[in-house]
Amino acid sequence: MSEKADTRPATRGVLSKDLLDACISCGFCLPACPTYAMTGQEQSSPRGRITLMRLLETGELAPDDPTLAEESSFCLGCRACETVCPAGVQYGHLLEEWRDEQWRGMKRPWIVRPLLTVANRTWVLRILGSVRRSARKRKTDGQRTLMLGCFERALFPSVSRSLAALDPTISVDPNQGCCGALHAHNGELEKGRELARELGDRLAGTIITTSGGCAAHLADVIGRERVVEASEWLLENSETEKRPLRVGLQDSCHLRNGLGVWKEPRELLGRTAAYVELPSSGSCCGAAGTYALVRKKESKAILAKKIAEIEAADLDLVIAVNPGCLRQLQTGLRKSKSRTKAVHIVDYMRGR
Ligand code: SF4
Ligand code: SF4
Repeated sequence: MSEKADTRPATRGVLSKDLLDACISCGFCLPACPTYAMTGQEQSSPRGRITLMRLLETGELAPDDPTLAEESSFCLGCRACETVCPAGVQYGHLLEEWRDEQWRGMKRPWIVRPLLTVANRTWVLRILGSVRRSARKRKTDGQRTLMLGCFERALFPSVSRSLAALDPTISVDPNQGCCGALHAHNGELEKGRELARELGDRLAGTIITTSGGCAAHLADVIGRERVVEASEWLLENSETEKRPLRVGLQDSCHLRNGLGVWKEPRELLGRTAAYVELPSSGSCCGAAGTYALVRKKESKAILAKKIAEIEAADLDLVIAVNPGCLRQLQTGLRKSKSRTKAVHIVDYMRGR
């Protein structure tokens, strides 16, 4: 008796089968996706991208197919699609695996490469932190340790100083490296996980982080129980006094959609000021890790809408919980000569 030939295409082993198989192609995610809203094209939606990943996996699309290159970089990686998916598809993990293939080596956008090189070198990060005067070394009982971040040390050193001032018993270790979120989202998935494990081994006790994106990546690799994001900690541990300010918030996509932390910063701001919920506070601001560098045009278009909303709300401050979002908002507000200032939630809580 002859056996029936298996006509299913062989798989290439780029993407995890169980992650891909979880998608039932229902399309519930389409209205939540900012890039689908921009183009109205199926291929720019979460479902469309999962279809592309499947075609890559079976070999029906060649790895150098231009649509694959375009859509893997056009996606913001904001994970808004995960929050509405009835099948629990882990789109963020799929995108990490996809970019691991798509952005490997010289296929990686050139502008991302020097960032990864810097983030790989702990001694460079230490010097950056020292020159920019981020929080200074402090050894305490080791129950909590402050994560300094890589580029936050250089761009926003006041944030770690503020947290160290608000929590006098937190330890600070200037010799810590990058958490690897940058790597995981830019085509170096295993390196990103390795760096997170190294950081988890190095830092004692609970790790307090001032970056929503880093919090989500670190928690994913070393366990949620080891990681506390700054607004979670501040809500439990800081004194709240009402100030005469109109204040809005920009969520961090990975903090909101990955870790489910979005109530905490709102509660904190509601206790301390007149809190105004912006219509799109939960949607990506266009910073999206390296997106503002790799996809400048799209990033600017997203930011322009956000700035118009902030202007219409006549805010004194718009608060960010992630350094990338903070930089993006500050750039947009400065260019539009807005009276509103963008401030990190930790600096805000310290009264800056
Ligand atoms: S990702 Fe989720 S919501 Fe989107 S099509 Fe697949 S199963 Fe449906
Ligand atoms: S991560 Fe964001 S941009 Fe990418 S498919 Fe999901 S919702 Fe759309």
